[in-house]
Amino acid sequence: MSTLDALKAHVREIAALEEVARVLSWDQEAMMPAKGAELRAEQAAAVEAAIHRLSTDARIPDWIAGAPAEAAPPDRVTLREAARTHARATKVPAELAAAIARATTLGQGVWARARAAGDFAAFAPTLARIVALKRDEASCLAAPDTTLYDALLDDHEPGMSAAGVEAIFAPLRAGLVDLRGRIAGSPRPPLRVTGRFPAEAQMALARRLATVAGYDWDGGRLDLVTHPFCSGVQGDVRITTRISADDPFNCLYSTLHETGHAIYEQGIDPALALTPAGRWASMGVHESQSRMIENQIGRSRAFCTWFHPALVETFGDIGLDGPDALYGAINAVAPGYIRTEADEVHYNLHIMMRFDLERALIAGDLAVGDLEAAWNDRFAADFGVGVPSPAQGVLQDVHWSVGLFGYFHTYTLGNIFAAELFAAMGRDLPGLEEAVARGDLGPAISWLRDRIHRHGRLMAPAALIGAAIGHPPTEVALLDYLNHKYGALYGV
Ligand code: ZN
Repeated sequence: MSTLDALKAHVREIAALEEVARVLSWDQEAMMPAKGAELRAEQAAAVEAAIHRLSTDARIPDWIAGAPAEAAPPDRVTLREAARTHARATKVPAELAAAIARATTLGQGVWARARAAGDFAAFAPTLARIVALKRDEASCLAAPDTTLYDALLDDHEPGMSAAGVEAIFAPLRAGLVDLRGRIAGSPRPPLRVTGRFPAEAQMALARRLATVAGYDWDGGRLDLVTHPFCSGVQGDVRITTRISADDPFNCLYSTLHETGHAIYEQGIDPALALTPAGRWASMGVHESQSRMIENQIGRSRAFCTWFHPALVETFGDIGLDGPDALYGAINAVAPGYIRTEADEVHYNLHIMMRFDLERALIAGDLAVGDLEAAWNDRFAADFGVGVPSPAQGVLQDVHWSVGLFGYFHTYTLGNIFAAELFAAMGRDLPGLEEAVARGDLGPAISWLRDRIHRHGRLMAPAALIGAAIGHPPTEVALLDYLNHKYGALYGV
């Protein structure tokens, strides 16, 4: 066996174990009984330790050195990623990696109970432990000239730095605050959905939406969780949603969002399965696929032409007399507490707040004990209203409880990429709106499959998006999209 073949077999085993970890994590959220948490933490730590052992194998550098200089593109990615993950894994001691896996697995349960009780103090010691472990991890990883936070950020958006994020966030923030101010001065009352929305009917329509958005049911399933997510690769890509009794859009748009993630995974070239090139390009690119299906398409006036009759067929009277009323209702702009329920104008302001707070936590400039007060102060300053309870404030997101720091900004990058891709798609597909109005997302999905999905990680994130849109991505397309859409809706 050549050294390259040996490396590929080894990397394949690591990839398979990473999928085991993902199935365990999906099970924990969707299926596992509450008493299983302690055992699951041990299982997760054991899988993590096995991955760490394989990733730090001393033969990896020799295999890389022995590989031919001219390798095929997927093998080039294997060599690059193997070098990167080996360097990363050897810098982080096995005991620290296992401690993080155990703390974050248990952290999730502690967070969920604290959130249900509305008690930040019940979560604070656990979060302080996780922050300390993540700071230790970042100290192992950070290059001499980079910050601890940049070291964590690189995991989710390779090639991006906190300074790079700030350079995009500053002009975006100014544009969003301006648009929000104009909307707040508009006299148009937001329309609201009313009616009866039985859980089974919501799930039936959610399944229909996923089908319309191109989800392959032979390679997936839909389940209920607290915090919807998509998990898996290739032939096993699972989506989740949640039910709100008086707001069907919570379930339906969560489903559309996760389906956008899922069709990305399902659309990666099968020939790349279980290789480093067969994974998503970055979390920002991943989020662009979910946002595109949820917002640019799912909340468009064209989609309402198909969606309104489907809603009436499912629920009867929904208090909205046609596609125009539906379009107004699903795009109502109002400052709310919850990020995942935020409208497109406010959403990125939620992200910018988290980006600043978690950067201060990792830098050591903000103590976990002061986090709740810092959150509430910042929210009042940015949104003009006080936070009524921790569940609607600092405890609302799962991310920090599972050790995800340096991740939140990828949501906004996703919005930026989605707006850029949608503008390019509109130029390439003159009949796009008519197709969407018929509930035919085929042309849009084919376009995404060709430009984004099938390539997996063969290209770096910025290069992948740049090749699809013909120029480097900026915040301008997102501001243009929002100004055009909400300017017309609110007459501002
Ligand atoms: Zn998402």
